[in-house]
Amino acid sequence: MAMPADNIFLKIISKDIPAKIVHEDDRCLAFHDIGPKAPVHVLIIPKTVIRTAADIAPEHAELVGHLFVVAARIAQQLGLSDGYRLVVNCGDRGGQTVPHLHLHLMGGRDFSWPPG
Ligand code: AMP
Repeated sequence: MAMPADNIFLKIISKDIPAKIVHEDDRCLAFHDIGPKAPVHVLIIPKTVIRTAADIAPEHAELVGHLFVVAARIAQQLGLSDGYRLVVNCGDRGGQTVPHLHLHLMGGRDFSWPPG
C-alpha cells in the first residue's frame, strides 16, 4: 500500500484536491464518493491517518465512534430513513484501495447479503 504522504484523502482534507463535502468538523470529513456504487455514497474519514481498520487501537475508540455518529447524522440529513449500508473495507483482501480508514455510507437502493 502507498505511504500516507501519497494518500489521496489527505489531499482532500487539505483541500489540495476538490471533493463534494457534506460534513466537516475538527476530527473528520465526509464527502461524496467519486465513483458512487449507490444513489447515495458518502465517505466519512478521520482527519488523522489510521491506515486500515486493523490499525484501530484503544486510543482511537472515541474518534471511530465519532465517525459512526456523523454517519448516522448524514444518513438522516440525506433522507435515508428506510435504511442504508455502512462498509469498511480492510486491507487488500477486503478490497481497500485507499490506505486511510473510511466508512462507506451507501443508500438509496436495496443491498444484498453476503456482499461480494
Ligand atoms: P476503498 O476501496 O474501500 O478503499 O474505497 C475507496 C473509495 O474512495 C472508492 O469508493 C473510490 O471511489 C473513492 N475515491 C477515490 N478517490 C476519490 C476522490 N478523489 N474523491 C472521492 N472519492 C474518491
